[in-house]
Order: sequence, then structure tokens, then C-alpha cells
Amino acid sequence: MTGSLAGKCAVITGSVGGIGLGYAKVLAKEGCAIMLNGLGEAAEIEKTRAALESEFGVQVVYNGADLRNQDEVIAMIGDADARLGKVDILVNNAGMQHRERVEDFPIDIWHQMLAVNVTAAFLAIRTVLPQMKARNWGRIVNIASVNAHVGTPELSCYTASKHAILGLTKVVAIETIETGVTCNAICPGSVRSNLSEHRIDTFAAQRGVSKEEAVDAFIETKMPYHQPMKRFITVEEVAGALGYLCSEAGAAVRGASIMVDGGWTAR
Ligand code: NAD
Repeated sequence: MTGSLAGKCAVITGSVGGIGLGYAKVLAKEGCAIMLNGLGEAAEIEKTRAALESEFGVQVVYNGADLRNQDEVIAMIGDADARLGKVDILVNNAGMQHRERVEDFPIDIWHQMLAVNVTAAFLAIRTVLPQMKARNWGRIVNIASVNAHVGTPELSCYTASKHAILGLTKVVAIETIETGVTCNAICPGSVRSNLSEHRIDTFAAQRGVSKEEAVDAFIETKMPYHQPMKRFITVEEVAGALGYLCSEAGAAVRGASIMVDGGWTAR
């Protein structure tokens, strides 16, 4: 296998679809073996896994850990060690979102979201760090959001979790500063994926318009501040940032928050 990441192995959480699958493709294209993770229908996931393996000619395995469960997160890293041999790259991508004002926000959803968006990342980092340090090479990339920098009404837990993951990113980066292990965050703006698809469907139903008309309306509600480019950011545009962070050229990027937000936070 050729490619700049040939011989490397990556665990990418929440990667059976959406942006996570885009991350898997970017790394697989460079020859990296992949462990996929995420919730979904077994046959669909197997189709995704097999397609990735045959398209890029790398080993691709799947672990179905439910990241709300501490033991399953730790076991997922053990499973990657057993089946891929090691973990060189960890992408903490899985995420939950729920929209409701603070006073109505369900407490159980608050705890579940923090478990997936923050605690699972902490546990996975804690478990992989010793082996990365021992080899003096590693890439840890936490997928945050513009909501790591700004607050959005009805997204209290999501915003709190994304601020938290950015804090964790900085501390891990500093604790590994004299090693070949880097830790950074990518902060996407609005990408068209399951998270936004649900909102577009709601728009379409509420307004009695087609899905494509609803996309325009969705973008419109985010103007002028949230979508200055007047379009969604693509999965490929976000995943490109991961490719850079995992390359040798990314070795000196430490504790950074890479904004791929179409100018949202620049305004
Ligand atoms: P998505 O809903 O398509 O993907 C989320 C993934 O997380 C899915 O694969 C899902 O199975 C997995 N997941 C959720 N709960 C899980 C659990 N308990 N155990 C295991 N896996 C679980 O969403 P996406 O848009 O691809 O989001 C990926 C990441 O990017 C998230 O962290 C999200 O917060 C972040 N993000 C997305 C956007 C956007 O506009 N889509 C913007 C900024 C940040």
C-alpha cells in the first residue's frame, strides 16, 4: 500500500456516515487502515465498510461501541489494537445534538450528549495516549464546531460540549507538547449531513415547500451571520482539514482550533 499514511491505523468515531465517513475516505486514500464506529443498521454499515475497503485497498473494520457507555469506548480502542495492531490516529467525531431552550432541556439528554460529545473523547484519548507516546507519533483530532466559539439559542448542551472539547484539546496538546503526538480541533460551520437534514425536513414540512426550497429557506434563516457564503460547507472541505492535520506538515500545529465555517466566526 502506498500513500503518505501507509502503515498507519486510525479509529474514527461516528464514521458510518456523514462527515465521519468523509474523514475515513481522506485517511484511507492515503493508505491508512480504518476502524469505523457509529450507530445504525448492520447491513448498511457492512455495505459502507466493504465499499471503503475495496475502493481504497486498505483494511477497514467496524466496532459498534455505543459511546454513551464508558466500558464500550475503552473496549473499542482495545479492539482496534487487536484487529489493526495499533492506533496512530484518533478522530473523535461522533456527536449528538438536541434543540430546546434551557428551562425545558431534558436532563437525561444533557447527560447522554456530554457522554458522547465529551466524555467518550476523553476516554478514548486517555486509552490511546500511552501507545502514541511510546511510538512518539500520533494524531488526535477532536471534531468541535463553531459552537466551540459562539453560543446558539436552544443548543445549550451542544455548545457547552463543544466548548469543553476545545478545552480538552488544548490541555492534551500542552501535555504532549514535547512528543510527536499532536492534538487539535476542527470547527465546522453548517455542513449538509444528518444533523442539518433533519432541520431541512422540518422546514419543508412547516412551510409546505419542496426540500430544495427548504434548503434555500434554511440558508436564509442563517443569514447574514451564520452562512456568509450562502451555501453549506461540503464534507470534503471539512475532511481536507483532517488530511492536513494528519500529515507530516501538520506536526507543529498544536492545540489549534481549525475553523472550516465559511466565515461564520470571522464576522
Ligand atoms: P451525523 O448525525 O451524520 O453523524 C453523527 C455520528 O455520530 C453518526 O455516525 C452516529 O451514529 C454517531 N453517534 C451518535 N451517537 C453515538 C453513540 N452513542 N455511539 C456511537 N456513535 C454515535 O452528524 P455529522 O454532521 O456528520 O456530525 C459529525 C460531527 O461533526 C459531530 O461531532 C458534530 O457535532 C460535528 N459538526 C457537524 C456540523 C454539521 O453542520 N453537520 C457542524 C459542526 C460540527
